[in-house]
Amino acid sequence: MHNILVTPGDGIGPEVIDATRRVLDWYGKNRNFAFHVEEALVGGVAFEKTGRPDPDQTIEKARRADAVLFGAVGGPQWDKLPFTQKPERGLLRLRKDLELFANLRPALCFDALKDASTLKPEIVAGLDILIVRELTGGVYFGEPKETTILPDGQKRAVDTQAYTTGEIARIARVAFELARLRGKRVASAEKSNVMVTGVLWREVVTEVHAKEFPDIELSHVLADNCAMQLVRNPKQYDVIVTDNLFGDVLSDEAAQLTGSIGMLPSASLGAKINGKQAALYEPIHGSAPDIAGKGLANPIAAILSFAMCLRYSFGRVEDAALLEKAVERVLAEGYRTGDIMQPGMNKVGTTAMTDAILASLAKLAG
Ligand code: NAD
Repeated sequence: MHNILVTPGDGIGPEVIDATRRVLDWYGKNRNFAFHVEEALVGGVAFEKTGRPDPDQTIEKARRADAVLFGAVGGPQWDKLPFTQKPERGLLRLRKDLELFANLRPALCFDALKDASTLKPEIVAGLDILIVRELTGGVYFGEPKETTILPDGQKRAVDTQAYTTGEIARIARVAFELARLRGKRVASAEKSNVMVTGVLWREVVTEVHAKEFPDIELSHVLADNCAMQLVRNPKQYDVIVTDNLFGDVLSDEAAQLTGSIGMLPSASLGAKINGKQAALYEPIHGSAPDIAGKGLANPIAAILSFAMCLRYSFGRVEDAALLEKAVERVLAEGYRTGDIMQPGMNKVGTTAMTDAILASLAKLAG
């Protein structure tokens, strides 16, 4: 029995999570997927009901679950709250308390959407890369992190980029292991030409590779060059592993290659301890307050996040591929939500898109 926690959150979060739950139910009924679902509050809605965006009860439930399916958090009504009460705090605390150090961001371009990219279709058609970003270390968390006043009255702000051997080795292992399930190639991106953390990063990744993953092809690339290569010839990559800051930038760049924010899933994984691995799956989009409550949200990013959950948390590789195939078919058949609408296609809302995906699953499963 798989224990799944859903945290719908705010805005379109509940809408795309509802759609995902319908897919989950389909797998329960048709694919021998035994699961138990619990629901918990997070974000602005949690703040309204409990006074906190990150209730302890939610964190406890997440710790007990085998996987968390997260919707989205945030909205303009909470923008003025202090940092500790902001909806986003709910997600940050989940990442921190569950020690989700590996962020997996696939950038996959479905053939039917190759014209939606800002790049030429031949550059992105068939694109399938995975960016593995270190999520709990580096310059976003390094100390000191402060603003001081200098004797001459100027302000001076400092962020600290710091990485340990252990932090680099564990994210490198995640990348190499994932590459084994894919194209068996890893590119490691850093700035070893100007940063000592970059020198250590390259050293440790090289060592882990030599000792544990000689079957995987490893290359090193400077992060700025990687940014350029991603728009020049993104298909040269299979898995890219990089630190928190570069990963933040490169994964958004890669996302843009594929056309729409409503299409992209992500996973954040923790360490495997006694066979159990904390994992949170979420669409990369936010709560989209501009379309919330209107039934217009594209549910595909959330649904593909469940496909990642099937693959990485439950080892259901074929079931994951089935779901990805169902989405691909529906797009090829011309179904489009507003965010990916193209001339001559069939414009649908959240429910009709989900209906189409369920019908496609049923057809594919025979
Ligand atoms: P956003 O991703 O919510 O929306 C950006 C644009 O994309 C909007 O026009 C929106 O309508 C559209 N869009 C996003 N997802 C879509 C979908 N599934 N289907 C159709 N259209 C979609 O980003 P934003 O507007 O910058 O932020 C809105 C709120 O979400 C803010 O409060 C922000 O802090 C929060 N946010 C949360 C997360 C998260 O929960 N992980 C991530 C990013 C932003």
